[in-house]
Amino acid sequence: MTCRTEVVERPSTEVLSVCTVVRVSTSPPGRENSSDWPWFADMVRYKQKAELPSKKEGADRIRSMAPSYELVDGLLYKRSYGGPLLLCLPSEEAKTVMTAAHQGICEAHQGAKTLAKKLIIQGYYWPTMVKDCVEEVLRCSVCQMFARKGT
Ligand SMILES: [Zn+2]
Repeated sequence: MTCRTEVVERPSTEVLSVCTVVRVSTSPPGRENSSDWPWFADMVRYKQKAELPSKKEGADRIRSMAPSYELVDGLLYKRSYGGPLLLCLPSEEAKTVMTAAHQGICEAHQGAKTLAKKLIIQGYYWPTMVKDCVEEVLRCSVCQMFARKGT
C-alpha cells in the first residue's frame, strides 16, 4: 500500500473579509453624543475601567446589562442563549455585514426574520438588528419585486 503526499503551497480556500471591526479603547472627549459614537461605547468603558455614565438612568442600564456582555481582546461580545458569543458591531459595519449577507455573493434574498437569525448564527449582534433587517428587505428592489401584495 502506497501513501501519496501532496504539498499545497497556498490555502485552498480564500478568506473573504466583509468588514473590519472597530476596537473601542478609550473615549475621545466630547464625542459621546455624535452619531459615529458606537452604541456599545459605554459598556466597553464600564468593562475596561468600571466607569459609568454620569446620568443615573444610563448608569443603572449599563450595570444591569453588564453580565450579558464580555470584553475579549478589546472587542465587546454579547452572550447568546446556548450559542456563541456574538460580536457587537457599530452601526456602519452592521449595515455592511447585513447587506453582504442579504445581497452578497450568495444573493439569498431571505426574509427579514431569517436574515436576522442568520446574522446571529454567524456571530454578530447589534440592538436594532431585527428592525434594520426589515428595512433592508423593504429597500431591496429584488425582494420587493417578488413580495406578496396586500399581505
Ligand atoms: Zn433582497
